[in-house]
Amino acid sequence: MKKKKKLYEGKAKVLYTTEKANQVIQHFKDEATAFNAKKKEVIEGKGVLNNFLSEFFMEKLNNVGIATHLIKRLNMREQLIEKCEIIPLEVVVRNIAAGSLSKRLGIEEGTRLPRPLVEFYFKNDELNDPLVTENQIATFEWASEAELGEMFELALRTNDFLSGLMSGVNLTLVDFKIEIGRALRYSGDKLLIADEISPDTCRLWDTTTKERLDKDVFRLEQGSLSEAYTEVASRFDLLPRNVKSVVK
Ligand code: UDP
Repeated sequence: MKKKKKLYEGKAKVLYTTEKANQVIQHFKDEATAFNAKKKEVIEGKGVLNNFLSEFFMEKLNNVGIATHLIKRLNMREQLIEKCEIIPLEVVVRNIAAGSLSKRLGIEEGTRLPRPLVEFYFKNDELNDPLVTENQIATFEWASEAELGEMFELALRTNDFLSGLMSGVNLTLVDFKIEIGRALRYSGDKLLIADEISPDTCRLWDTTTKERLDKDVFRLEQGSLSEAYTEVASRFDLLPRNVKSVVK
């Protein structure tokens, strides 16, 4: 499958059209950003790691009937995906308090929540992706009532599945963000998990030591991001320990 023209360039990825109207190529860049791109850095190899990790998680989700946009990985940095109309909401699921939840509600980081919490944020960089209510989602028609129900279900099923997968390699899934799209192939009638699932979009802590193995390493300047992501990839046997050998 060949790339045709650039469709969209975001902070961490680029999308290209292909000869098929329903399929696009997603390219993973090495740029790391945090705090709404106020903090930026190129981290060599990050794109490769996230390409492999996102492929791994999405393929596993596809295999258990949780539909994602992934068709197949094409090379070190690219994957072929279903074209979607992205619903303008970031769907966050939390198992343990951290990040913005801890700050907003004063819950100590590391506190396990009584049950998984699903939150929706309006995707808008200028507004800093504000937290929104279900009523706002309905009022502004960002998603229909049926879609909202489906988004809750997708988010919770993904959480159960990924929590188990992570726990198998001694990682705790603290929280994560997914984006959901309406698949073009089904005229928008089918929802798919889109974007990426990687340590850029999940909080992953070593279950025993509580060491952070996700983007917080970069946000909080707590060490090497590529070492942390390589550690996650190697726990799933995805890459050799020294990622530098495969980055070029
Ligand atoms: N997250 C993300 N992209 C965003 C905002 C959050 O992938 O633009 C992820 C983040 O990595 C974490 C979860 O969503 O796994 C919850 O993030 P939180 O609301 O705590 O915000 P943060 O503290 O990361 O700003």
